[in-house]
Amino acid sequence: MCGVVGIMGTPEASREAFLALTTLQHRGQDAAGILTYDAEGFHKVRNLGLVENVFNRDNMATLTGNIAIAHNRYSTAGRGTIDEVQPFLISYPFGISLACNGNIVNSNELARELKAGSRRHLLTHSDTEILLNLLAEALEKSVPASSTALADEATLPDTLTFDQICQAVTTICKRVNGSYSVVSTIADHGLIAFRDPYGIRPLVYGKKLMRREGEKETALATGEAHMVASEGVALDFCGYELVRNLEPGELLYIDAAGKVHTRVLDQRQARHCMFEWIYFASPESVIDQTPVYGTRLQLGKNLSNIVKRELSAKGFHADLVVPIPETSRIAAITLAEELGVPNREVLIKNRYIKRTFILDSQDKRQKAVNLKLSPVKSEITGKNILLVDDSIVRGTTSKKIIELVRRAGAERVFIVSTCPPIRKPCFYGIDFPSEQELVAHGRTTQEIETELGADAVIYQDLAGLENAIHEAQNIATQGKSKKFKPCMACLDGKYPTDVTESGKKFGASRSAERKLKSIEAADKKSLDYGP
Ligand code: SF4
Repeated sequence: MCGVVGIMGTPEASREAFLALTTLQHRGQDAAGILTYDAEGFHKVRNLGLVENVFNRDNMATLTGNIAIAHNRYSTAGRGTIDEVQPFLISYPFGISLACNGNIVNSNELARELKAGSRRHLLTHSDTEILLNLLAEALEKSVPASSTALADEATLPDTLTFDQICQAVTTICKRVNGSYSVVSTIADHGLIAFRDPYGIRPLVYGKKLMRREGEKETALATGEAHMVASEGVALDFCGYELVRNLEPGELLYIDAAGKVHTRVLDQRQARHCMFEWIYFASPESVIDQTPVYGTRLQLGKNLSNIVKRELSAKGFHADLVVPIPETSRIAAITLAEELGVPNREVLIKNRYIKRTFILDSQDKRQKAVNLKLSPVKSEITGKNILLVDDSIVRGTTSKKIIELVRRAGAERVFIVSTCPPIRKPCFYGIDFPSEQELVAHGRTTQEIETELGADAVIYQDLAGLENAIHEAQNIATQGKSKKFKPCMACLDGKYPTDVTESGKKFGASRSAERKLKSIEAADKKSLDYGP
C-alpha cells in the first residue's frame, strides 16, 4: 500500500506535492519522493524515511516546475532499498516518470518478457519499474516511426496524441495482472493517471481555479490546476475541489495546454479493496463515493447484534467498550451506542510510535506494541472490557493488548474485530501474503480465543462488512450511485484476477524478499524501534 500524487498547472507543484504526501503519510512510511519537470529537465528528491525527514528547504528548492508526481512508499514487493524509492524515471521515449500504488501479480513473467522480448534490463526488484518499462515500450510502439524520426524540439509536444496514449495504456491493462493506481508525466506533454480495470486501489481527481488576487499566476492557459491523489484528503488539504474518483480502467490525461482528456479503456466489475474502509484510508476521505468515516460508523452498528448474540451465548456481559487506537475509534462509538455500554478511551497511545501493522518485521511489531499503549488502570480494574479493533491480522498486536488489559486488572477481556477473519493472502498490495502468518488461517474462533488469550473473540461477518460499505455509499449519494462488490478475497478467497500460478510464485518470492528486508533492516540502527 502506498500513496501517490500528481499535480499540474501550478508553480507551487512541489510544495503542494509535499503537503499532499504529508496528508497521505498513513499509506506508507518507508520512503518518499517527489519528481518535477520544467524547461531545465527533470528534478527529483527521493529517500528512505518519513516525508518530514526526506524533504528540507534546500532540496525542495531544487524541485522546480509546474508539474510534479510524488509517492509515499510502503514496501510490500522489492527490497525496500533506496534504489526502489519512487517516482521512477526513464529517458526514452520522451522522458517518462511514474509512481504507482499497487502490486503486480505476474511481475516475474513480465520481467522475463521485457528482458527476452525487448532487451530491457531491469535495475531494481520493484514492480513499478516493470510498469514504467511497459509504458515506455507501449508508447514507443504507439507512435509511428516516421513521426518520431522527424520530430524536432519544436514539434515534440505534438508527437503524442491522446489516442496514442490510450493505445499504450490499453496494452498495460491487457498485460498486467494485479492492482495499480498510477500517476505519470511525459516530458513536454503532460500528466497521466490511470487505474487497473477492477479499480482495486483508489485514485481521485480534483482541480482548482488559480487566478485569484494575490496568488501566483497559473501555468496553464485554462487557469486551472489539477491534482490526482490516492485519497481526497490530499486534495482538500491543498485547496482542490474533488471532481470525482477515476473509474476502474480509466485513463486521465491533462495535456500541455491544460485540456483534460478521459477515457475508460478496460473496465471489469469494480472490486475496490475493502481494507481501505476497514483500516488504510484516512477517516475524512471518500473512496469511490463511499465515505470512510460513515462506513466505520456502520461497521460498529452492524457488529452490535453479533456481539449481543455471542456474549449472551457465553453468559458474559461487557462493562466498557474500549477502542484500540486509532482506526477502531469510529466503529466503537456506534457499537457502544447500540449496546448501551459506555465507550471509554482507556488505552492511551504514544503518538510518536509508527503504525504497528506497517512495521516490516514480526520482531519489531512485538516490541512496538509495548511502547505504544498505556492502560488507564483505575478505569479498567475489575471490569469486563470489550476491546474493539479494526482487524485481527497476525494477532500479534491483539495478544499483547489483551495481556496489557489483563495486567491492568480487567475481570474479563473480549475482543471485537470490525473486519471478518482474514484467512487468505493478499496479492494486491497489503502485507499479509503468507497464510501461515494469519492468526485466523486454519483456526476455529475458539482456537483463536486460546491463541490470543481472550475470553471471547467476535468478528464482523461478510454480510455486515458489505452492508456497511453499501449503506455509507447510499447515504452519501442518496442512493444514486451504482453498488459495487468490494474485493474481500483475503476473507472469502474470491480473487478478482487469476492468482493461481503466478500468485504462488509471487507469494514465494515475497516471503524471500521480506526475510531479506528483515535481515537488512536489523543492521540499520535508524530503524530499530525496540526497547
Ligand atoms: S485481498 Fe483483501 S487486502 Fe487484498 S485487495 Fe482484496 S480485500 Fe484488499
